[in-house]
Parts: sequence; C-alpha cells; structure tokens
Amino acid sequence: MEKLAYEKPVINRISAGVPDKFGLGTNIKPVTHIDGVSVKELIEKYGSPLYVLSEKTIRETYQKALNAFKTRYQKVQFAWSYKTNYLNAVCNTYHQEGSWAEVVSGFEYQKAIANGVPANKIIFNGPDKNKEDLTLAIKNESLIHIDHQDEFYDIQSIAHEMKKKAKVAIRVNMDTGIFPKWVRFGFNLENGEAWAILNKIMADDGFELMGLHTHIGTYIMDANAYGVAATKLAQLAVRLEHKYNHYIKYIDMGGGFASKNTLKGAYLPGSDTCPSFDDYAEAIAYALQHSDIKYDQMPMLILETGRALIDDAGFLIGTALANKRLPDGRRSLIIDIGVNLLFTSFWYEHLIAPAQMTPPYTEDTIIYGPLCMNIDVIREAIKFPVIEKGENVVLSRIGAYNMTQWMQFITFRPKIVMIDTNGVTHVVRENENHETMNALDRVPEHLKGFDL
Ligand SMILES: *Cc1c(COP(=O)(O)O)cnc(C)c1O
Repeated sequence: MEKLAYEKPVINRISAGVPDKFGLGTNIKPVTHIDGVSVKELIEKYGSPLYVLSEKTIRETYQKALNAFKTRYQKVQFAWSYKTNYLNAVCNTYHQEGSWAEVVSGFEYQKAIANGVPANKIIFNGPDKNKEDLTLAIKNESLIHIDHQDEFYDIQSIAHEMKKKAKVAIRVNMDTGIFPKWVRFGFNLENGEAWAILNKIMADDGFELMGLHTHIGTYIMDANAYGVAATKLAQLAVRLEHKYNHYIKYIDMGGGFASKNTLKGAYLPGSDTCPSFDDYAEAIAYALQHSDIKYDQMPMLILETGRALIDDAGFLIGTALANKRLPDGRRSLIIDIGVNLLFTSFWYEHLIAPAQMTPPYTEDTIIYGPLCMNIDVIREAIKFPVIEKGENVVLSRIGAYNMTQWMQFITFRPKIVMIDTNGVTHVVRENENHETMNALDRVPEHLKGFDL
C-alpha cells in the first residue's frame, strides 16, 4: 500500500446559518444570472474574467435620480461625469437619457465632442486645462469651471485675443460640516477668495459668468452637507444680484452622492446607511427654494452625479483558480479577478457571490486575485462557501471608477459587455491582446535581436 503524504491537520469552525453580527444569516445567495443572462454562458462566450454592464439598471437608476429631483425642483439637469465611466456605450446611454457631459481633461473633452455632445452642453472641470483646451472650449462656448487664479489669467488672455466672451463658472470650496474638507479645488468661500474672483470676472468683458459650482467630496454619507453647500452658493448668487444685478443661469452641486457599496471597516452595510436620491434631492431643493434668490430667476440645478448612478449597473464575473490552505489554517480562494481590475477593492467590501449553488456551509476565507503580488487581495475576510476550481464568482456594484482606473498589469484587460434592455448582449469594449499591447512599444534599432 502506498503511504499517504502527510498533511498538517487543522481545526476550523464551519458555520451553517449561524447569525452574523447583524443577526442575519451568513448564507451567501448565488448569483447565477444578470438581467436574465446566464453568468456561465457569458463566461463561455466572452472569456473570464469579464465586465458586465446592465443597460436596464443604468436607465432605471438614472430615472430614479431624475425623478427624485424633478418632483422637488423642476429646472434640473444631469451632466454625466466622464471619469466615473467613460466607455462610449455608457456615456451614450446617459446622453440618450438627456444627460450633458462633465469632463476633467482635454482627453475627456474630446471624447464628449466625438460622442456628439453639443459643445455648449459640456462642462469642463478640473485643475488641468491647457491653453489649447481652453482655446477650443472658449471657441465652442463650452462651460468652463475655473479652478484657480492661473486658469483665470489664461482664459482672460485667450478670450481677449479671440474677442470672445468665455462662458464660465467658478468652482467654490467651503465648509459644509463634513470631514475631510476638499479645499484643493476651486476658490474658498470662507476666506473671501471666491468673492474676490467673482468680482474680477464681473469686471472683465472677456467673461460671461454663467453659474456657480461646487463638488464637496465623494461618497458623502450626510445629505445635509448638500443643503449647507446649496445654501452657501445661493447666498453668493444673491450677493451677485445685489451688487451687479446679474442673475446666474445655474447652480451646479457636483457629484459625490454615496452608492450603496460598503466601506471597509463600516459597521453596517452601505445599503442600510447611505442616503437615497430623495434624501439628497430634498436637502438641495429645500435649500434653493428657501434662499433669497428671486422667484422668477431661480437658476437651473445641475448635478454631476457619477458613482451613485453607475455603481449598481456594473458586475465583474470570474473564475476560481485554486483553493489553498494558509499555514495558519485559513482557507484562501484564488480567483482570476485582481486588484488591477478592481481598483475600488482598496476601499469597498464588494458584494461577492458564487455563480452556482454551493453547500450551505461557510468558512472564513481570504480571497486573492491572480497577480504575483502580495497586495492582490480582493477580500481580507469573508464567510464564504466552498467554490471548486473552475467554478464562477460574481462581484456586484462595481460600475463606478473600475473601468477607468483599471491598470494594465501582468495580464490583459478583459472584454466589457453590455446587456441591453431586451436581454441581448453586446461587446462594448474588446479585450487587450499582444497586438494592442505592442502597438505603442518601440524598440531602438540596436536593441533588435540577440543571441542567447
Ligand atoms: C469626480 C467628479 C464628479 C463625480 O463624482 P462622484 O463622487 O462619482 O459622484 C463630479 N464632479 C466633479 C468635478 C468630479 O471631479
């Protein structure tokens, strides 16, 4: 008889249906289908890992947000935050719904133009706008949101040279009672900087002041902070009325609404604690309606919501590569989804589920990605059922920032598919391959060829 190899024994607690700290079961429900399409079939057809977008969820979430605001404040306009997800198919879905574009670089600006967004419906934010970007934006009458003094002077000289009025707003940063205060963008309200630049703009015929803008932060869990910010911007607008008899066309409240994801270290799940669109809309609409802005001069309310609109529409599906016992006895699961594809795993505890039925038992598990890098951890600790090599997993709520902040690293970036509202699947971005990867490489003549 052959002698069996020695394996160190471990004792592990296996829990089945034991309540967790919230009194809920640890039972993880499998996600076998996305919008009626089988996860297994998606992987068979398009490969693993794979990003999946739900057009239905994009449109439904957008309508929900729009409705929350429209029922409280009629003149409302969304502008899609390109950096949150600038896949053309995603941008166009929002544009079809009526959303303008909000961009923060020359690259994103060109992308919005190429997608067919009318230039006067592009909001150009951010600290990085070079002279070419500004010249184009002024020529096109796009809405330029000034970030700092140097940009003001650039616009001033270009506008005078072109004999055109630049259509501008200023970004204002302020204390809304939340921490951390984002003070690095725009002009500070409390120290008078914002008012000072407004006076310069009003005194210069190279500018037409269109609006006031703020973007107080991201994943803001306190809807009241928006009420404070809207009140403060409205007060600035009233001050402009008094001094210049000038009525701004819009107040832009930026983005930053929390999605339902759960932050690492949070005690309760995000879906229980994050404000709803109604909560945010109520805070903002109340503040504007109760301001002293003249009734017949109420500005348009612009929202640049990113994360809260798209997160729920994105999924990342993948495959188990191996199960492994760590020396301390913990179970680890290695999947083909790494942190290079899931940038947000650094701060969210993403929902992760098996894509097939599993035994009811769960065990403390650490989930690793496929990279040969120690930091490639998708989940430090989760009670998870056993998944065999070759079986599949589904990560949900990953639509925001992952498809723009992803990294090309060690492996190729995979395909992205979108399931349309009829349940038909479309490839909306191809995977990388050797050819696309090498397309930008250049090898100097003397480095071509070698003998080993
Ligand atoms: C990133 C960004 C947004 C979108 O923010 P979310 O937190 O994703 O809603 C909106 N406006 C500006 C200026 C931004 O930089």
